[in-house]
Amino acid sequence: MGGKTSAPRDPTPNRRHIARSLGLLFAIEGTLGEVWLLLPHKGGGHPLPLLLVCALAQAVGVWLRRGALDRAPVWVLKLVVAVGTVLAAAGFVLSGSTTSGFAFFFLWVTPYAVYFGLRQAALQTAFAALNLLGALLLLDHGHMVTADVGQWLLPGAAIVVVSSIVYQLTRELGRADRERLSSERDRAEAEARRAASERERARREAAMARLGRLALRASDRALLLEETVRVLTETLRVRHCSILELRPDDAPMHVIAAVGFERDTEAPADEQRLAGYVLAGDEPVIVWEWASERRFTAPSLRAREIRATAAAAIRGRSGAFGLIAVHSSDVGAFSGEEGQWLQSIADLLASALDRERSEAVMRHQSLHDALTGLPNRALLFDRIEHAFGRAQRFESAVAVLLLDVDGFKTVNDSLGHQAGDELLIEVGSRLQEVVRSSDTVARLGGDEFVVLAEVESDEEAFEIAERTATIWEQPFSAASGEVFCSASVGIAVGRKSQAPAKMLREADAAMYRAKERGRGRSEIFDEEMRKDAFERLRTESDLRRALERGEFHVLYQPIFDVESLRPIGVEALVRWQHPSRGIVGPVEFIPLAEETGLIVPLGRWVLEQALAEVAGWGRRFPDIPLRVAVNVSAQQLARPEFLHEVRQALARSDLTPDQLGLEITESVLIKESSSPRSTLEALRDIGVKVLIDDFGTGYSSLARLKSFPLDGIKIDRCFVDGVGVEDEDTAIVAAIVEIARSLHLQVIAEGVEGEAQLERLAALGCHGAQGYLFSGPVRGDAFAAFLASEKPRTTAALAGL
Ligand code: C2E
Ligand code: CA
Ligand code: CA
Repeated sequence: MGGKTSAPRDPTPNRRHIARSLGLLFAIEGTLGEVWLLLPHKGGGHPLPLLLVCALAQAVGVWLRRGALDRAPVWVLKLVVAVGTVLAAAGFVLSGSTTSGFAFFFLWVTPYAVYFGLRQAALQTAFAALNLLGALLLLDHGHMVTADVGQWLLPGAAIVVVSSIVYQLTRELGRADRERLSSERDRAEAEARRAASERERARREAAMARLGRLALRASDRALLLEETVRVLTETLRVRHCSILELRPDDAPMHVIAAVGFERDTEAPADEQRLAGYVLAGDEPVIVWEWASERRFTAPSLRAREIRATAAAAIRGRSGAFGLIAVHSSDVGAFSGEEGQWLQSIADLLASALDRERSEAVMRHQSLHDALTGLPNRALLFDRIEHAFGRAQRFESAVAVLLLDVDGFKTVNDSLGHQAGDELLIEVGSRLQEVVRSSDTVARLGGDEFVVLAEVESDEEAFEIAERTATIWEQPFSAASGEVFCSASVGIAVGRKSQAPAKMLREADAAMYRAKERGRGRSEIFDEEMRKDAFERLRTESDLRRALERGEFHVLYQPIFDVESLRPIGVEALVRWQHPSRGIVGPVEFIPLAEETGLIVPLGRWVLEQALAEVAGWGRRFPDIPLRVAVNVSAQQLARPEFLHEVRQALARSDLTPDQLGLEITESVLIKESSSPRSTLEALRDIGVKVLIDDFGTGYSSLARLKSFPLDGIKIDRCFVDGVGVEDEDTAIVAAIVEIARSLHLQVIAEGVEGEAQLERLAALGCHGAQGYLFSGPVRGDAFAAFLASEKPRTTAALAGL
């Protein structure tokens, strides 16, 4: 127990105080009497007995001062007061004179009686008056002279008046004391209440923090919701809590998590009314008492003996999810503060659900083609692997049919992109109609589609090809009329398990052969083609020689600060100046370079080249600090030498490590193998920045970001495209930026092509932007000229790039 809390005290002075105070009085009176004896005075008196009386008073005084009667019963003290009166009277008489002043000693003692109540005071006053009267009579030898009346009347009246004044005073003091006492008690109670409410607040905050952590981690929505209702009922000490979810198309709301209610059912109609009311406003709603509630009624709640309710809307970025409500059987159970707290919990849930929704869409987008909604290359590869797994068990084979729309480029160029896109969508849906439901139709990009099927024989694969050929019999509608199309089909059939990429390469080779032989044909991959394919793979030796012959060069695409619109860095992008084919983009040769291991020397060359060139600009334009981002493939990172090579390149260029960023894809970090990760960690230790490229594709979960050794992310173009246009994409980018910023990661948006996009990205909190709006990849000398031309401040200044 805290020592500070004082027990309520009795406001009347305690006996000890009275006894001691009386003691002091007795001692002073005795001493004063003795002093009087020493002074010259007229007439009789009895000095010796008076001295005795005085000494007696002093003795009693000292005795009392020493605490002799500290614990004496009240009647003893009353007696001491009476003794005081008697001693005063004795002193008065023995002094032998009515003018000696001894009469005043009555005034000193008698008022003490007041402490023992009014009755005692009256009694002692009467006793004192009698003593006074007696003393006067004795001194005047038994005569009552009228002229003497003044002599006893004045002290007598004085005793009465002083006693009553003292009585008034003590009452007044006692009342003040009692008031102080009760206000102290009130304050103690108020403080106890405040302490309790502070404890409650601390509890609520702790609960909120717990849910916050869970919301950031939990990938399982059901778990998060269950935990939320549990924490709410526990923290608010109620037995009823529910989360209602809005359903699309005005369907009734559902109870998706609850304590005290049935779950996974439709919410009763009256609760839906409550929900409607809450969702319409923007404040949490508190029902003090259902019996007197006028805004809406909820008999179903009252039937459960619920008397008070607090409810808050769960509102996400792209609309409301539903409602969270707590109920109590006590009237007025929820304060405004608790309502606000509930709202914060609802907001927390909303942002977690937002994130989850975004993740689901991202996952879908990362595995599906945006235009047609068909599985993309990544998902197709996964399905091919699974198909081989099954084929082995059932001793069947896997067929991959690659369809390439003949002359699609002409359609696109003559009828426009819009028509081209519509045609591709139509092709996708027609293909899905002609294949079996167990087959997969995927789009690889451009005008290439793939049908994946499990077959018994090559013939069966051809049958599927024939069936797909029927989709071209009907014309495709376009704004300018109808167009007929066809496709060339390359077929690869695998009996033994083989890499999906190899299957596709074979189908591709067969497709080329089909194209060579005219439109609308199908060919199956065979031995002869294997030889041809080998021929085509001669590119590999071309590639190898290209490095020696210096056919590669690096282009630079600037990255801009979205706020200041000044360049903060460049991304290095490699190009191949092929002697006969002209400029070849990295999409065409990087995969081959990766397969063949050529990416290692090529990547090293790009790194050296880029660092050297950027260091050169640094010397020419020292007031424009630039960073350089270099793309790095998984194979490069897997080599232990990589760390050393980066250090060497940095040392040669005299750039500081923090001016270099390495762009890697998520797959590098997700792979089980730990060596790329530890290489990255070592690089970060020396100050090199690590960025995730194409963030959002190849994706597992936002929460996972936390566990990666990272400095920044580059949001993939496919999400950036829709920013400010499509709610879903905007919400995804917002969710990415939010979580990245909370993890102190730099966020750069890729493929920014429009002003409106840029504005929106800035509003969402992106740091950097890169894209055709500013500039495509340009040659180093062009970029240096741009840096020299003027201090870039506005986008207008960049339009000329
Ligand atoms: P990336 O790292 O995602 O590079 C961005 C690509 O988007 C570049 O294509 C760039 O030209 C293009 N781009 C930039 N802004 C826009 C825009 O506003 N709209 C559109 N539609 N596209 C834009 P690029 O240069 O063809 O590079 C393709 C990919 O090749 C790169 O994708 C990167 O993954 C890879 N790559 C390029 N250079 C290297 C390299 O030196 N090493 C490795 N390992 N990979 C490289
Ligand atoms: Ca990149
Ligand atoms: Ca990228």
